[in-house]
Amino acid sequence: MSKSAKPGTEAAAASTSNFIRSHIEADLAAGKYAGRGWGGRPGDAGSHAAAPADPARIRTRFPPEPNGYLHLGHAKSICLNFGLAQHYGGACHLRFDDTNPEKEEQEYVDAIRDAVHWLGFDWGPHGYFASDYFDFMYEAAEYLIGSGHAYVDEQSAEDMRRNRGTLTEPGRPGPWRERPAAESLARFREMRAGKHPDGAMVLRAKIDMASPNINLRDPVIYRIRKATHHRTGDAWCIYPLYTYAHPIEDALERITHSICTLEFEDQRPFYDWLLGKLADGGLLARPLPQQIEFARLNLTYVVLSKRKLIQLVAERHVDGWDDPRMPTLAGARRRGYTPEGFRRFAERIGVSKADSWIDYSVLEDCMREHLNESAERRIAVLDPLKLVIDNYPEGKQEDCYAPNHPQKPELGRRAVPLTRELWIEREDFSENPPKGYFRLFPGNSVRLRYGYVVKCTGCDKDAQGNVTAVHCEYLPDTKSGTPGAESVKVKGNIHWLSAREAAEAEVRLYDRLFRTPHPGAGDRDFLLDLNPDSRKTVAARVESGLRSAAPGSCFQFERHGYFVADLADFRADAPVFNRAVTLRDSWGK
Ligand code: ATP
Ligand code: MG
Repeated sequence: MSKSAKPGTEAAAASTSNFIRSHIEADLAAGKYAGRGWGGRPGDAGSHAAAPADPARIRTRFPPEPNGYLHLGHAKSICLNFGLAQHYGGACHLRFDDTNPEKEEQEYVDAIRDAVHWLGFDWGPHGYFASDYFDFMYEAAEYLIGSGHAYVDEQSAEDMRRNRGTLTEPGRPGPWRERPAAESLARFREMRAGKHPDGAMVLRAKIDMASPNINLRDPVIYRIRKATHHRTGDAWCIYPLYTYAHPIEDALERITHSICTLEFEDQRPFYDWLLGKLADGGLLARPLPQQIEFARLNLTYVVLSKRKLIQLVAERHVDGWDDPRMPTLAGARRRGYTPEGFRRFAERIGVSKADSWIDYSVLEDCMREHLNESAERRIAVLDPLKLVIDNYPEGKQEDCYAPNHPQKPELGRRAVPLTRELWIEREDFSENPPKGYFRLFPGNSVRLRYGYVVKCTGCDKDAQGNVTAVHCEYLPDTKSGTPGAESVKVKGNIHWLSAREAAEAEVRLYDRLFRTPHPGAGDRDFLLDLNPDSRKTVAARVESGLRSAAPGSCFQFERHGYFVADLADFRADAPVFNRAVTLRDSWGK
């Protein structure tokens, strides 16, 4: 059904220069923005836009609708828009497209701001709301009516749909299309004054009912909605449609490059028509913003539709918007994904005009790479089994030393206490080892990482035959870092923690939320593709120093993967860690 791309280095190199950058560079070379004023209206000193240092620079924007949390797809758009502004020394605005009063909430506004900041970007003084411009949008609508470019249509919704035509048939003018401007204006003012119920009439742009582009067949630009808006309250009972509001917002903020996803390509003629008409009428200043489309991010093993994400939360398939399995930025953060990982990912996948699917492992690789560079190493035993060193004195304790980062000696090392009783991974002992098993089994020797070589002597079992403890003896001359360390060669090297010193911790082993690459493909209910094993919780043992980990800090647990101290639930007396990503990709197999 789709192409799965796993970009390699060629794609990464290509992304540094892409068609959007070429476009911007051509505009800058042509001096397109030189001599431009500050604000979006002629002679405007920039009432809403605190002027950037140089108005000739580019301005982009990230325009989320505050009707849900940001997801992994938004990260691509944020990195692109803020990244371009950074690269060319321009500005990127954060603008909430709050033209739809029913679905929008302050909770989402706050979460979106948090997520953009977390990704490492800042809009400075350029934080706006579409609702900031409702007065201007209304004024512009009256201008369009007065100049013969818009009319109030009182057809029923069904008649409007019928008269719009289809992809193969032109539309037909409705009975109100040629009404006098004064009559439309009077009606429009009545709409605004609340004299008509929802749906009784709409304001439409008057363009071309026969256009091959259905978006130009007199699109609706205002509708009646008697709803309370999260910011403007009950000041308005008519609201502009997104397609009308968005170009105006861009123009008022003097956006130079309005970058959006491909599904808006067919809207571009309306975008240009509308801004052209308002500039002709002297309501907006030129040069006008231009819309550029790119392919949205499609990622395997996740869903990125807000409707579906809301459903996952509302029906409690997950624990909330920030559940570490959610493909939201709030979830990714709790999962232990990093802003640097996302920026690396955005660079690697690049931008193009062609829709494609990116394999989820590309995102995981980016996180793994960054975590490998940045996360300190620690030891955790996820499935603890006792190991008793029978020839090690009871009560004795000595320090072994483990590097905090093998590639970064400057991060130092820490002491890991060794005692007679240790915790090891249950899978590091086998009574009847399969061929090629180099870990503990009776008679075999392994190295206790950073410590001694030990020789396995046997095990204890309970009445059901389960192994309850493993016994061994250590070779005193073989301690790591001492001259005798290499005197005994062993093939296995296992990690361990002192049973007396280690801390108990809850470790949440997260896996992909969906078990199929294209959840809900075809007509299938996407919920049927949920992975029932996406979370497993274990009672682990971790180094005692991890009790004082800062929530949100990431570690590599040796041999296990990358983990983060849970932002919500971690407590010093009850540590909780989430697995961000395994050490290696195990899904491909
Ligand atoms: P939905 O359609 O699921 O409700 P949306 O994508 O329309 O959500 P918005 O809040 O309108 O959500 O998106 C804000 C910006 O993020 C838009 O400019 C949009 O183009 C961009 N965006 C959304 N999804 C993706 C994606 N998957 N890849 C890249 N950019 C995206
Ligand atoms: Mg949208």
